[in-house]
Amino acid sequence: MKHLTEDQIRELKGTLITMRERLIASAQEQIRDPSNVTFEGGDEIDRADLEGERYLTFRIKGREAKLIHKIDYALMKMESGTYGVCENCGAEIPFERLKARPVTTMCIECKELEEELEND
Ligand SMILES: [Zn+2]
Repeated sequence: MKHLTEDQIRELKGTLITMRERLIASAQEQIRDPSNVTFEGGDEIDRADLEGERYLTFRIKGREAKLIHKIDYALMKMESGTYGVCENCGAEIPFERLKARPVTTMCIECKELEEELEND
């Protein structure tokens, strides 16, 4: 990640840490407040017993946890000095792209090839 200046890395790191804090706070809020939870699939609601509730909580946690994991991974890569390099082709990912999507692990070309099945 030699193409990034120390200031740029510091800025991205700050963004990641803020994102992480917000995610954890919102996940905790959602779990506390059941009105924030949207049910999907009518058949499932009929069986929304204790088991269903547990499943719902797990789902929220799972979704948030996935992004938190990506943030942790990005932070880890910063520590090891491999942040901002495309994992697919090894190209340096421009600061502007990292600024827009600090958790990204691929350059825009590789991401497009991957058909953007998943938003990062
Ligand atoms: Zn690439």
